[in-house]
Amino acid sequence: MKKRILAIMTFAALLSLASCGKVVEGQPSANTITTTKSAVTASTTAVTTTEAQIATTTAANDESKEAAEAQTTEAAQNTYSEAATEAAQQQAVPAGGGDQTSNQSAPQQSNAVSSDTAPTPNDYNYGPAPAQYNYDGLTYIQGVLIANKSYSLPSDFNPGLDATCQNQFYKLQNAAAQQGLNIWLSSGFRSYDYQAQIYNNYVARDGQAAADTYSARAGYSEHQTGLAIDVNQIDDSFAGTPEAIWLENHCHEYGFILRYPQGKQGITGYQYESWHIRYVGTDMSYPIHASGLTLEEYFGIDSYYH
Ligand SMILES: [Zn+2]
Repeated sequence: MKKRILAIMTFAALLSLASCGKVVEGQPSANTITTTKSAVTASTTAVTTTEAQIATTTAANDESKEAAEAQTTEAAQNTYSEAATEAAQQQAVPAGGGDQTSNQSAPQQSNAVSSDTAPTPNDYNYGPAPAQYNYDGLTYIQGVLIANKSYSLPSDFNPGLDATCQNQFYKLQNAAAQQGLNIWLSSGFRSYDYQAQIYNNYVARDGQAAADTYSARAGYSEHQTGLAIDVNQIDDSFAGTPEAIWLENHCHEYGFILRYPQGKQGITGYQYESWHIRYVGTDMSYPIHASGLTLEEYFGIDSYYH
C-alpha cells in the first residue's frame, strides 16, 4: 500500500507540475502550490477511500456465514484439539440454525453489513462443511441442525421461529398465491414444554407406540429448532391437494424440503407428512430435492429412539 500511495502522490505531483508549467512558467505562485497540495490531498483521499472499501469488504467477508463456516471447517480439519473446537464453535454460524445459536452465546454480528454487501460464494474459496459437529448440545451436519429420534435438542433450546425461515416461507406463500394456491402457516416454532404437552396428549389418546409414529417426544421435535413449519390442514386430508403437490415440487426453491415423505417412515421415523416442511437453505434444499432422498438418507444418519 505504501508503494501505491507513493506512486499516486508522485503521479499527482507530476500532473500538477505539468499543468503549472503551462500556466506559470518558472514562477511558482501560491496558486500552483495550492493546486499541487490539493491534487496530492485528493490522491491521498482516494487511497484512503480505497483502503476503507477494502476494510469494509474484509469486514463483510469476515462476518458472513460462509466465511464463518469456512473458518470453522479449516479449524475443524486442522486439528481436533479442544481449543480448536472451541474456536470453531465460537465462529460457527451454521446455516439455518445459526441465527439462534449466535443470539444465544456466539459473538454478536454487526448490523452494519447489509445484504447488499454480503459476499457470494464465488467471492472466496471455502472448503466443504465439516461432516458433523456439535455446538452447545446441538448437532449440525454440513451446517444443518439435526433434530430427529436419534438427535435431540436441549430442553432450554428455545429460539423461536427462525427469521430467515419465516421470510422464506412468506416468499413461498406469495409464489403459491400467484398460482392461485392458498398456503398458510399452521404451526411453526414449538417449545420443549409445548411439545411435551402435545406428545403427552397423543400418548393418552392413542398410546405411546402409535403416538411415536406421528408425534415427537419433547426434545426431539424439529419444530423446536425454529426451522420447521406445518402448513394448512395438519392431517392426511392435505395430501394430494393442489397446494400439497405444489409444495412438494417447489418448496426447495425457497430453501425447504418436505421432511417426511411418503414411504420413508422406516428411515425418518415418522409417517408421511405432506404438510411438514423444513428449512435448510437453498444450498442444501436443491441437492437434497434433486437426490430424492430424505434428510437422513442424504446425511447417512438414522432416526430412532436409542
Ligand atoms: Zn410438523
